[in-house]
Amino acid sequence: MAIAQDGMTRSSAAFLPLDADRKRRLIVAIANSVISHVDELTTLDAAIGDGDHGHNMKRGFDAALQDLDALSAMDLPDLLKAIGTKLVMKVGGASGPLYGTLFLALGKALPPEPSRSDAAAAFASAIAAVRARGKSNAGQKTMLDVLIPSCEAFSSGSDLAAVKKTAALSAEATASMRATRGRASFLGERSIGHVDPGAKSSSLMIAALCDLLRDA
Ligand code: ADP
Ligand code: MG
Repeated sequence: MAIAQDGMTRSSAAFLPLDADRKRRLIVAIANSVISHVDELTTLDAAIGDGDHGHNMKRGFDAALQDLDALSAMDLPDLLKAIGTKLVMKVGGASGPLYGTLFLALGKALPPEPSRSDAAAAFASAIAAVRARGKSNAGQKTMLDVLIPSCEAFSSGSDLAAVKKTAALSAEATASMRATRGRASFLGERSIGHVDPGAKSSSLMIAALCDLLRDA
């Protein structure tokens, strides 16, 4: 399936890469985007949390990489649900159940060969599931402050480079926020001035996804 240069495709066309090789590259790209930034994520979490976010996420995505052959052979919904289950089981902390919920909900909402509009609807419903699980919303200095604006950019038809940029800028913008959910909220005003680690990990995964789909 061809994706135009600008990353846009007609809403009726299959959008996500679907053969086993593309699924493998998708899993590797998303896993490595987190694993290659483990120290940065840990440093961010050390500033406003307990310094485990990088290692938490690495444990989850190492488990996905260990199962790469089996995962790439699954259809997209099952693949996403299997990764979500691994994240719930391996990541721990607050982010494990939340990212697990995100992937599980994506797996439930996406058809095996989604169009761009299917992908946008699934992204929105997966975010709703995270909000429900975390009893959280935009503006609280969490992963949602990247996921929500990135989903809005994607749903409004922005090209994938713009979605990636939205994710990166939104992660940076969490620095000026005061945390009112998660461990960083214990710091109150002192959480201001630091990028939220979960916002950063979300932006890394979105960047990897956008890069891979643009190159597909
Ligand atoms: P823990 O805080 O338990 O040590 P992690 O360090 O792995 O877990 O993950 C922390 C990240 O999880 C935060 O940076 C934030 O983005 C996200 N987070 C925490 N609580 C919530 C919540 N209720 N809703 C959304 N995201 C949250
Ligand atoms: Mg932590």
